[in-house]
Amino acid sequence: MHARSAPQRPRPSPPDQGWALFLDVDGCLLEFADAPDKVIVPLGLRERLHALSEQLDGALALVSGRSLEALDDLFWPLRLPAAGLHGLERRSRNVEHRAPIASQLLRRLCAEAETLAIDHRGAMVENKRAGFALHWRAAPQAEHAMRAFAESALSQLVGYRLQHGDRVVELLPVGGDKGGAIAAFLEEAPFAGRHPVFAGDDLTDESGFRVINARAGTSVLVGKRPDSAATFGLLDPADVRAWLGMPGTDHDDGDPAR
Ligand SMILES: [Mg+2]
Repeated sequence: MHARSAPQRPRPSPPDQGWALFLDVDGCLLEFADAPDKVIVPLGLRERLHALSEQLDGALALVSGRSLEALDDLFWPLRLPAAGLHGLERRSRNVEHRAPIASQLLRRLCAEAETLAIDHRGAMVENKRAGFALHWRAAPQAEHAMRAFAESALSQLVGYRLQHGDRVVELLPVGGDKGGAIAAFLEEAPFAGRHPVFAGDDLTDESGFRVINARAGTSVLVGKRPDSAATFGLLDPADVRAWLGMPGTDHDDGDPAR
C-alpha cells in the first residue's frame, strides 16, 4: 500500500458545540466527479450534517459555488443555511438573497459555450442560471479554448467577473465572495458569538479563510495547495467526513504521524 504523505498543516480538533461551522461542498464534503451533476453524496452524510447542525444549535452552513437551488437538490431533504454561487446568494434565518435573473445575452453566451464544449470531448458547461461554468476536468486539452471563450464572453457583458477554480472558470455577476457570506452569517444568530470554522479546498475559499483568520477562527484547507491562508489541513473529502464524525469513515492512510 502506498501511504500518502501527511499534510503540512496541523489537523483541526473535532467539532465542538461552540462552533459556527462553514463547509464548502465540492472537493471538501464530496469528491469531485467529471461533471458537477455526477457527484455522489455518500450514504449517511445528510444524516450526519443534520445531527451536527442540531448539536451546533443550527450554526452550520454550506458555502459553495453551486446555486442555492442546486445545493437543496443535492442534499434534499436536508435544507441548511447556505451561501451559493461563491457568496452571491445567501440564505439564513433572516435573509434569502438570490442571484439576479440571467439576461438574454448571458443565455445566448451559455448556449454558445455548450456548443463549444460539444467540440471538446469531456469538457462541459454548468448552467448556474445567473452565470455559467466551463469545466475541463475530464478534458485537459480543452483548457485553452474554454479560458479563451470565458475571456471573450466577459468582454461582452457588463457587471460580470471571472471566477477561476480547479479546472473550471466561471462567469458570474459581480458582487459577493465566500468571505463576505461567512462574515454576514457571523453577524446573525445562531452563528454570532461562536468560534468560526471554515473548511474548503479551492481558490475561491481563500476569502473565507481570511475572514476566519481575522476572527481568530479555524481555517481548514482540504488538500495540499501550497499558497493558502488556511492554518489547518485535512487530506481529502473522506478525511473531512471522518473529521466531522461520520460513521464508517475511518480514514487510515497508514501514516503513523497521524
Ligand atoms: Mg470546493
